[in-house]
Amino acid sequence: MIGVLRPLFFRAAPLMRAPQPLSATQEALCANPYSHGNCHLIELRNVVKVYDTPAGKFHALKGINLCVDTHEFVAIIGKSGSGKSTLINMITGIDRPTSGEIYVGDTAVHRLSEGEMAVWRGKHVGVIFQFFQLLPTLTLVENVMLPMDFCNTYPRRERYERAMQLLEHVGMADHAHKLPSAVSGGQQQRVAIARALANDPPIIVADEPTGNLDSKTANAIFDLFTRLVVEEGKTIVMVTHDQDLARRVTRAVTVADGEIKDEVRRV
Ligand code: ADP
Ligand code: MG
Repeated sequence: MIGVLRPLFFRAAPLMRAPQPLSATQEALCANPYSHGNCHLIELRNVVKVYDTPAGKFHALKGINLCVDTHEFVAIIGKSGSGKSTLINMITGIDRPTSGEIYVGDTAVHRLSEGEMAVWRGKHVGVIFQFFQLLPTLTLVENVMLPMDFCNTYPRRERYERAMQLLEHVGMADHAHKLPSAVSGGQQQRVAIARALANDPPIIVADEPTGNLDSKTANAIFDLFTRLVVEEGKTIVMVTHDQDLARRVTRAVTVADGEIKDEVRRV
């Protein structure tokens, strides 16, 4: 199955594009780095991101310092264009800083090579997007199996069963053999969450995960996130436009013009 799925996965999800068999370094990166008693699980130190545009250099992040502790549920809020996606793309390694440092557990994310990054991300960070980004030609359960196939986590014979359990967890097991187009947006997002959990990452990073959902469905997705923090000890960083949801997390961080303007702790 991997042979069939991998090319699809790489083509449709270039962020997870990965190289060849794992090197010793990559294998080492796959070891759990969260057992060393760090005070911060995620730490951004003076992170600057400058884009080159036809109009000149654009400073999307102007020296971000941010720490997120284990088991926090942090909302990143701010106007469109303020730098929210750029910021969280630093945490996932989807984008690289122009300068500054990013640490997740014991990993210096800004120093990873592309190949190391893909493997590291696949195991340690579950990423969820606004438009779900499920592979349209694969069934829902196959979509959830992909990260396990990609990172070669869990014995092959256990992956299907684990994917089914994750779908059960998000209330989607009954639809497991359907294609994404056969279920609603809210249901697709549930599957995307199951996929993000496939390798049991300690961190979930979500970019406007409820941005394309009606408020009732958004609430249900938010409740699912809350359960992941409270019952399973996950750490979540979520970009949201929804002020109501942003009031229900442990900390809300406001970004404006590439800078952190405000932080509100709720617990
Ligand atoms: P947000 O997620 O808060 O809406 P983004 O982080 O996507 O904002 O973008 C912040 C700013 O950086 C925006 O002005 C955007 O146009 C700019 N930007 C983002 N990506 C690029 C890029 N690849 N090249 C040039 N400018 C970019
Ligand atoms: Mg954005």
